Amino acid sequence: MTAERRLVDLHTHSTASDGSLAPAELVRLADSRKLAAVALTNHDTTAGIAEAREAAEAFGRLRFVPGIEVSAMSSAGAMHILGLGIDAECGELAGLTRRLIEARNERNPRIMQRLRELGVPLEWSDVLEAAHHRAGGSAIGGGGKVISRAHIAAALVRRGFVRSMQEAFTRYVGSEGAAYVEKERLGPGEVIAAIRAAGGLAAVAHPGHLDLGNDAQKERLLRDLKRQGIEAVEVYHSDHDDRQTRTWLELARRLDLEAVGGSDFHGGPKPEVLLGRPPVPLGALSDALRERLAIG
Ligand code: AMP
Ligand code: MN
Ligand code: MN
Ligand code: MN
Repeated sequence: MTAERRLVDLHTHSTASDGSLAPAELVRLADSRKLAAVALTNHDTTAGIAEAREAAEAFGRLRFVPGIEVSAMSSAGAMHILGLGIDAECGELAGLTRRLIEARNERNPRIMQRLRELGVPLEWSDVLEAAHHRAGGSAIGGGGKVISRAHIAAALVRRGFVRSMQEAFTRYVGSEGAAYVEKERLGPGEVIAAIRAAGGLAAVAHPGHLDLGNDAQKERLLRDLKRQGIEAVEVYHSDHDDRQTRTWLELARRLDLEAVGGSDFHGGPKPEVLLGRPPVPLGALSDALRERLAIG
């Protein structure tokens, strides 16, 4: 008899944004790790969902959850919001992702210009290559693919302008870096509304990243987001230590929010983050949520 699958990973990236695996490869890896379910949650795009879903259908025992991770600006600064169980064809969500990609198309050339001014002659074709785009390919972000600072950082490494992704972020593209350019961000209310219009569950991603001081501030932010339609908190995440996990689990319970979790797997760009780590048991999700996401 084969063992029951009991672990899920509800936060992963593929080549549709800054992950290194194609959607079908990611799904294959999730199956080989014996996960019960995997969600694809690329930054600001639903590209890759169709391919991943199709690949998952070939693996009878792996459930696939279509998702997205959307950037927003909250009262606590930049934040990410996960949408889980979304209808990728939803027009309202498509309108939102189009705007987000346009904001990137406006920002990316300005980052490249800043780099040139700093004496770093990185070519856009290097970035496209790092993003697994065909050289000389379509418009920036064509096909719904997102080109992010992670790709610019990878290109800087590849061309030998820096030695590591970390150095690329610290020196150039990170928020304190010399080539940093702010990008237009949407308010959480708008993002949450689009996720919900697509039938998705909206969750605060990796709340441990938020710039919040004491527990009262954390609770205030969650209450504010709940008023705007947030339904869940990403309690389990590869960047959360045990204490953060406990804190966010307690807050989620107190505010009657669902607890979700995943690895935030990217593959090559973040090699220390492994698919399925931390382990999130199906039993960590409520019965209602498992039913809603159709993951047993
Ligand atoms: P953007 O979405 O264009 O603002 O770019 C931010 C992306 O860079 C996020 O998706 C992160 O996953 C990635 N990122 C941030 N810091 C690092 C780092 N030190 N190493 C690798 N990737 C990073
Ligand atoms: Mn990323
Ligand atoms: Mn994130
Ligand atoms: Mn992520």
